[in-house]
Amino acid sequence: MRRALDRLANETFDLLIVGGGVTGACVARDAAMRGLKVALVEKNDFAGATSAHNSKLVHGGLRYLRNFELGLVRESLKERRIWQRIAPHLVHPLPFLVPSYSGGWRARAILNAGLTLYDILSFDKGWLDDPAQKLPNHSWLNRKKALELEPVLDAPGLEGALQYYDAQMYSPERLALECLLDADANGAAIANYVEGGKLLNHDGRIEGCNVRDVESGAMFDVRAKLTLVATGPWADIFLEQALSKPTSHKLMRSKGIHVLVPALTRQAALTVATGTGHFFVLPWHGHTLLGTTDTPFKDNPDQVAVSEKEIDAFFALINKHLPRAQLTREKAEYFYAGLRPLVDDGSGDTYGASRRSELVDHAQGDGLDGLFSAIGGKWTTSRDLAQCAVDAIVEKLKLPAAECETDEDPTAGGDVGRIGGFIALQRAEHPDLPTIEHLAHMYGARLPDMLSQCNNRPELRAAIGNAGDIGAQIVFAVREEMALHLSDVVMRRTSMGQLGAPSREALDTASRIMAAELGWNEEHRQSEIAALAPWFATREAA
Ligand SMILES: Cc1cc2nc3c(=O)[nH]c(=O)nc-3n(C[C@H](O)[C@H](O)[C@H](O)COP(=O)(O)OP(=O)(O)OC[C@H]3O[C@@H](n4cnc5c(N)ncnc54)[C@H](O)[C@@H]3O)c2cc1C
Repeated sequence: MRRALDRLANETFDLLIVGGGVTGACVARDAAMRGLKVALVEKNDFAGATSAHNSKLVHGGLRYLRNFELGLVRESLKERRIWQRIAPHLVHPLPFLVPSYSGGWRARAILNAGLTLYDILSFDKGWLDDPAQKLPNHSWLNRKKALELEPVLDAPGLEGALQYYDAQMYSPERLALECLLDADANGAAIANYVEGGKLLNHDGRIEGCNVRDVESGAMFDVRAKLTLVATGPWADIFLEQALSKPTSHKLMRSKGIHVLVPALTRQAALTVATGTGHFFVLPWHGHTLLGTTDTPFKDNPDQVAVSEKEIDAFFALINKHLPRAQLTREKAEYFYAGLRPLVDDGSGDTYGASRRSELVDHAQGDGLDGLFSAIGGKWTTSRDLAQCAVDAIVEKLKLPAAECETDEDPTAGGDVGRIGGFIALQRAEHPDLPTIEHLAHMYGARLPDMLSQCNNRPELRAAIGNAGDIGAQIVFAVREEMALHLSDVVMRRTSMGQLGAPSREALDTASRIMAAELGWNEEHRQSEIAALAPWFATREAA
């Protein structure tokens, strides 16, 4: 996949997508697979914003049952199964325990009823070929059994735990990238580091967008019959700037932070109620990911960051409800913040607001033809949102189009058959690579292509960093996955930066490999290393 700047500047497309998070990526995949001529521009790197900074769950959203959002939960549970099938290397089952305490019989009865409904709504969860992907129904574990599984639950009054199953992504960044690789393979013209600016507005008809190549500063028009805004938490801000007037569509942004700490659980995730909400304790690459908060965010989305105060308050909340966690600031290995783009219902209540996705045709309300917005409610439902969006676009443009097959066709690396067998095979073939299981999850069926970078360059099989990555991934990322900057490689193409700041030595090695590929001089290489520092720093709100 190469940056298609020439094509973007010179061709006319059926569909231009502004924004390369998972929403844009899924729409690009679907539209290109159906035969539309597709363009996509992303102002930073793909899946670098909300699509990376979330809880990494492919889930039904148990708590939405409380608001009786049965349709949303059913849709999410169906989509959970689809992701498990089309990307089995990147989506796997995850057991959850919900602790129950003495005196909490009412909460337990309500939860039990909710989980029974959850089981019923996921009636198709066994419709998968791989037995390892099938999710059992929920069950009750008494205190002894719950503590055997997860000793961290030990607290006065613990009676037991309800166990249920959802799914987790191994790497949301790579899963979104795989959708873009599919779009690219089906003829889409894609580029990262290209920012959408003014929309081309001819008497109320939008005919594309003026864009800026962030790398060179060059500006040019991308022409398309229909433009889809998939800029997530930037959607209303982008539209206002792109049209030089306010639109009918307003968002409220809700900030959620996550903090990575040394492993607190053995295998299971925990969902812990706090009285006013809940938090997750999620196993993550041998560590624990704690998430998340939910606070209204009124500043510039480009400035979202985690503050020391937020870590302190979040740890205090967790220590209160999970006393054995004993979290202190030094335990925070890595942290990140994301913004939920929520439809502004005027309530100001971000926790209670619906996570439903939204497709807006700006012909209604704003009188702008040829302009749609897709606001992704959840990662889990992004494929379905894309299918609805492409159905609407095809109908609007009266284009001939093939049937949607994104629910059946494996993603770029998804054609691995049964995941356990695939990993065993890779282990047998590569006994010299101790982290082959990690690499098998990251690349799936594309693993041989990635490893072929080591042909005649055995030094690229050496480990870099502490997350299981090797040098060949960096060459592959530059040559085949549009990585332009060290941060693209460290934060998204590999897992190097996912477990905390990589060592200076690891950054040195990685940047030297990139420098050789991209012709960087020493000054440029050092500036790429320096640019990574903010990813690992807290920042107090202004
Ligand atoms: C704290 C938190 C936890 C969550 N947990 C989960 C979960 O566990 N499971 C789940 O299913 N969902 C979860 N979600 C929701 C999920 O992450 C989002 O629904 C999804 O990532 C939205 O994707 P998106 O592509 O719409 O937005 P984004 O990923 O934000 O993508 C928008 C993109 O547009 C780009 N852009 C902006 N302006 C421009 C411009 N002018 N030109 C070009 N590009 C531009 C941005 O750089 C960005 O990459 C969570 C969200 C948050 C915040």
